[in-house]
Amino acid sequence: MSTMAANADPQELDKFSELAHRWWDLEGKFRPLHEINPLRLAWIEGHAPLAGKRVLDVGCGGGILAESMAHAGAKVTGIDLARKPLRVAELHGLESGVHVDYHEISAEDLAAQEPGAFDVVTCMEMLEHVPDPDSIVRACATLVKPGCHVFFSTLNRNAKAYLLAVLGAEYVLRMLSKGTHDYAKFIRPSELASKARQAGLDPFDLTGLHYSPLTRRFSIGGNADVNYLLASRRG
Ligand code: SAH
Repeated sequence: MSTMAANADPQELDKFSELAHRWWDLEGKFRPLHEINPLRLAWIEGHAPLAGKRVLDVGCGGGILAESMAHAGAKVTGIDLARKPLRVAELHGLESGVHVDYHEISAEDLAAQEPGAFDVVTCMEMLEHVPDPDSIVRACATLVKPGCHVFFSTLNRNAKAYLLAVLGAEYVLRMLSKGTHDYAKFIRPSELASKARQAGLDPFDLTGLHYSPLTRRFSIGGNADVNYLLASRRG
C-alpha cells in the first residue's frame, strides 16, 4: 500500500471534492478561507518574502493560498489528494492567468521524490483532516531546504475551540458546512510544536487567527485559543 492510501481519510477527501465547485465562490462555504487569505499571506511574507522562491503548498485544495503566493512572485507547486479541488484550482489558474503546478500526490511521496527542494512549505487548515498529522509534519520538514521555513495552521483542541470552530462556525453562523471539522482531530499548539521539533524543525512564531461575529471580520495576532498559525525553520 502506498503512503498516499495509508495517510488520507477517504471521507475527508470526498467532503472537499463534493464542495469543490464552490471553492472560488466568495459567498460560499469557503468564504472564511478567502477572508483569512490576505492575512495569512502577509504573515508568511513577513517571515519569508516569497518573490522568486520555490514554494510548496501541501493540501492546497482549490488553490486560494497557492495562487496568491504565485501572484506574489513565487514559483508554486500545490499538492492535494482530492481530485476535484485540484481541477478547480487548475481551471481557476487558467482564468486568472496565475500559474501554479498542481499535482495529486501525497506529501510523503513527494518528500521521497524531492527532499530539500523547496524554499518555503505551507500546510494550512489541513492537518486536522488527516489520520496521521505527524507524518505530514515530517514530510514538510523533509521537503524544505535546511534553514528555510515551514508554515502550519490548524485548530486548537479545547472547549473554546469546540464552541467557536464547531458549534459557532458550523451550526450558529453557518459559515462552514456541518461536519467540516472533527474536534478529536484538533491539535494543541504545544503538540504541533513538539511534532515540528521531532521532525527537525524549530518553531519560532505562534499567533492566533480570530473571527468577530460583530464586525464579521477576521484578524491575526493574539492568543492561539482557536485557530492558529505556527512558523518554523528547518535546522
Ligand atoms: N490549504 C487550503 C485548503 C484547506 S481545506 C487553504 O487553506 O486554503 C483542506 C484540504 O486538505 C482539502 O483540499 C483536502 O482535500 C486536503 N486534504 C485532506 N487530507 C489530505 C491528505 N491526506 N493529503 C493531502 N491533502 C489532504
